[in-house]
Amino acid sequence: MSNEVSAIKIIDADGYEVKSHPAKNRDMHFKIQTRKISGFFQRLRKYSLWFMMSAFFLSCWVQIGDQPLLLFNLQAQKFHVFGMTFWPQDFFLLAVLLIISAFGLFFITTIFGRLWCGYTCPQTAWTFVFMWLEEHIEGSRNQRIKMDNAPMSVNKLAKRMAKHMSWLGFAFITGFTFIAYFYPARDLLAEMLAGSFSSMQLPLWVLFFTLATYINAGWMREAVCMHICPYARFQSVMFNHDTLVVAYDEKRGEPRGKDNKTDGHCVDCQLCVQVCPTGIDIRDGLQYQCIGCALCIDACDSIMEKLGAPKGLVRYASEAELVDGNKKHTINMRSMGYGTLLVLAIAGFAYNLWNRPLLDFHILRERGNLFQELGNGEIKNTYTLKVANKTQVQQHFTLSMSGLEGRILGADHLIAPAGDMLDLDFTVYVFKEKLKTANVDVQFSIQSMGEQPLSAVVDNKFMGPR
Ligand code: SF4
Ligand code: SF4
Repeated sequence: MSNEVSAIKIIDADGYEVKSHPAKNRDMHFKIQTRKISGFFQRLRKYSLWFMMSAFFLSCWVQIGDQPLLLFNLQAQKFHVFGMTFWPQDFFLLAVLLIISAFGLFFITTIFGRLWCGYTCPQTAWTFVFMWLEEHIEGSRNQRIKMDNAPMSVNKLAKRMAKHMSWLGFAFITGFTFIAYFYPARDLLAEMLAGSFSSMQLPLWVLFFTLATYINAGWMREAVCMHICPYARFQSVMFNHDTLVVAYDEKRGEPRGKDNKTDGHCVDCQLCVQVCPTGIDIRDGLQYQCIGCALCIDACDSIMEKLGAPKGLVRYASEAELVDGNKKHTINMRSMGYGTLLVLAIAGFAYNLWNRPLLDFHILRERGNLFQELGNGEIKNTYTLKVANKTQVQQHFTLSMSGLEGRILGADHLIAPAGDMLDLDFTVYVFKEKLKTANVDVQFSIQSMGEQPLSAVVDNKFMGPR
């Protein structure tokens, strides 16, 4: 079926006739008013973005036992992640996680292009919500453009204020939630309701992220994608002949025009431009501003449907398909390389996670006082014991010493709370005649008394007179 579509009047969801406009959006950098469109890809996007946002807003409130599901407690240097507790010693796992994210992103980008930007990026998600609020308060694109050009009135002022208040309200909930991943959500809420904070940094950080969200999603929007986000810049390097991108089928669409008996399928209605959040014209080819949101696909499909022409004039397609007519989607060597590295990084992460020690045990000698001679002939050394219990249950330990005969005082009841640190001082007494040298190697061991058999040994010294 080629060139069968006819020039008919097209009415959009707002009841306006879709006309051919010059792409003014491109010049109105901070004033892009997009037209609302619905369709298959927008439904996918909506589900994906709502899922991501629900996970963000709810996860900080969820507890597993008495531990939070996700809490990055910087003050206590402890990260609670899905029922596991991580300490600074485990941060190499975080580094591996970042490597996995990077390879995952490279792998997906080489095959599916900017899928991350269009469907999962927080900037896209929050802009999506802010635009939804704008649409509901100020009306459709045409009504907003009309209002932009109208002089200030009570109605305009009221709508503007309502919009900005709703943006600020949503931005505040976002700022609060973000900080709740670093400071327990319930405590933060209680302190906020009481108006009294354990640290003045807390309300300042909430305020900072509130303003950052308001400015990013309300004012800057696509400018962040186009001028600030580094990912937008370097991902084009990962594109290849087989990468799927949002593209216009020039062979089928051109020559564009109203007379579809003789022209191509593009009726030059400009709907694909009017829905584009970055204000570009996809018919000009692949551009770095394109965030892969697929709004133009749904827009063009809706036009094709009304014209009775096949959908897909604008669609996900690779250069191989559009230029060479090769419809078979192949995964090339670079994608396979990223995929292999991704699998290896995931395997390394899983192995290290599974085998990470659940106890972190240290003994430090008291500084400044090597030993003390007692009247009964005993020598006393003082130590500090530190046990990080990385399990999610409270652990009871016994402490013993080998390498020297002596007695331990002050470490009878070692209880390390779940996912927490035990820190206490204890002393060791040894009779002077047992010391063969002034500096004896000893080993301290801890052994858990619960169901989980945990133990650890560390070396240290016992000091006495020469
Ligand atoms: S060109 Fe299409 S996919 Fe790219 S940003 Fe614009 S609407 Fe989204
Ligand atoms: S590509 Fe589709 S939506 Fe864009 S101007 Fe042509 S017909 Fe209209």
